[in-house]
Amino acid sequence: MFYLEKLNGKTVMKTDILEGLTHFFTTRECPIKSKEPEMQDIIKENRIMFCKELGITEDNFVYPEQRHTDTIAVVKEGQTYYPEADALILTNHTQAVFLNFADCTPLVAYDKKQNIGAVIHAGWKGTVGRIGAKTIIKMHDEFNSNIDDIKIAIGAAISVCCYEVKEDVFNMSMISVKNNSGLYKFRDGKIYVDLKEMNKRQLMEEGIKEENIDVCPYCTSCDNNLFYSYRKEGATTNRHSVIIKLKDV
Ligand SMILES: [Zn+2]
Repeated sequence: MFYLEKLNGKTVMKTDILEGLTHFFTTRECPIKSKEPEMQDIIKENRIMFCKELGITEDNFVYPEQRHTDTIAVVKEGQTYYPEADALILTNHTQAVFLNFADCTPLVAYDKKQNIGAVIHAGWKGTVGRIGAKTIIKMHDEFNSNIDDIKIAIGAAISVCCYEVKEDVFNMSMISVKNNSGLYKFRDGKIYVDLKEMNKRQLMEEGIKEENIDVCPYCTSCDNNLFYSYRKEGATTNRHSVIIKLKDV
């Protein structure tokens, strides 16, 4: 279950499904990514706060470019920036990974037995590309993760109440899952799709058990007081982030 707590007086979100993994879903109170000039001091201050909390240097706080692809990279020690990827798999405990969001769906995968984790950016393009499912297949094929050992957190994203799409996106979304019943709503001649549930269903199609998936109830648009929304805030460059770090073994 997801819950809110304070870190140095600032609200962060966590979930107990990721027990054993150091993780933070940041909120509007502690952003670490923005292109707005007036935000840069607070971004810097928050990055320093999280690095200190994680016990890492800023060189080891790594992130991908996020281009709405289905490309997955494995984090390498000494490499900070991943220009092509939308998902990062973390296998060492000297680095921490963060990805940034404002409506797109954040996924975190964690295998406690193998002590490996991943953060995945799944907007509609990534979801249609099944990037979450592909990441857990890679964890299984290349890092010996047993599918039954992988726990998944699906974080705050624009939800079916607010995520209106055009017919082309709707059609592509619906063929990205085998069973698409209940993944959309029609209201006042408009189409709304449920990206969080779509990702969940893709993961279950690869064998992830339902009890190993935790879906965050927050909608970035409805709960805009807590999270950023690209749509609601007119293409804001402010982002909330998902940060993970493996425990030392
Ligand atoms: Zn909503």
